[in-house]
Amino acid sequence: MSTLAKDIMDSAASSAAVPRVLVVEDEPDIAALVAYQLTREGFRVETAGSGVEALDAIGREIPDLLILDRMLPGLSGDQVLEQLKAEPATANLPVLVLTAKRDQEDRIEGLELGADDYLTKPFSPRELVLRAHAILRRVQDASLASGGRVLRAGPIRLDAEANQATLDGDEINLTPTEFRLLQALMERRGRTQSRKQLLEKAWDVESAVSGRIQTRTVDMHVRRLRTKLGEVGDWVQTIRGFGYRLKVPEGIE
Ligand code: CA
Repeated sequence: MSTLAKDIMDSAASSAAVPRVLVVEDEPDIAALVAYQLTREGFRVETAGSGVEALDAIGREIPDLLILDRMLPGLSGDQVLEQLKAEPATANLPVLVLTAKRDQEDRIEGLELGADDYLTKPFSPRELVLRAHAILRRVQDASLASGGRVLRAGPIRLDAEANQATLDGDEINLTPTEFRLLQALMERRGRTQSRKQLLEKAWDVESAVSGRIQTRTVDMHVRRLRTKLGEVGDWVQTIRGFGYRLKVPEGIE
């Protein structure tokens, strides 16, 4: 393999694992500082200067974490949050709210709207990075459920190390791609992932980079995966205009 091809594959492999953060802040200095700190920490950062811009960006690709200023021109941070919570595809998107208000009432309000955490301005960039890591770790811990590399969702059990998936104890005969697709869905259970995100995770990097695999291929593999999952196949939900998620019914571990 050429050095160039290897470089491309290495960068594609790492970008698939890098958490994506969307920073919504209308003050350019603060946005730049936050973006700089997070980029240095290895996050992939996108910025938006208004609530409308933020919703546009999220419509294109749902980030792993949203850092949202409450005081924005036009659509406020709270209104953005409300819209995201009302949409199944983005209801579980982790959100860190930035608030200039010191009033305790306002802070509580922000958390009631469904933010995972908040920071009061002025904040130290270091503190922001720590909070961002903490939120993402909580999300990951929750999705890894019982720990290790064994993922469970109702009757589905996926052991990444042993490369084995079972349904009610019976091995599911999955292709390597279907296996990685199921793993990607289980690792982020409840959260919507775009076709592009799934493509990056489930297909071999070379095909994804070369563009040989089209996003509609993802749809085809999702259909096959659903069939193989039998009665729980419909837990793999299509989120129109966004992608897919694994939604486990209430009350099932
Ligand atoms: Ca602001």
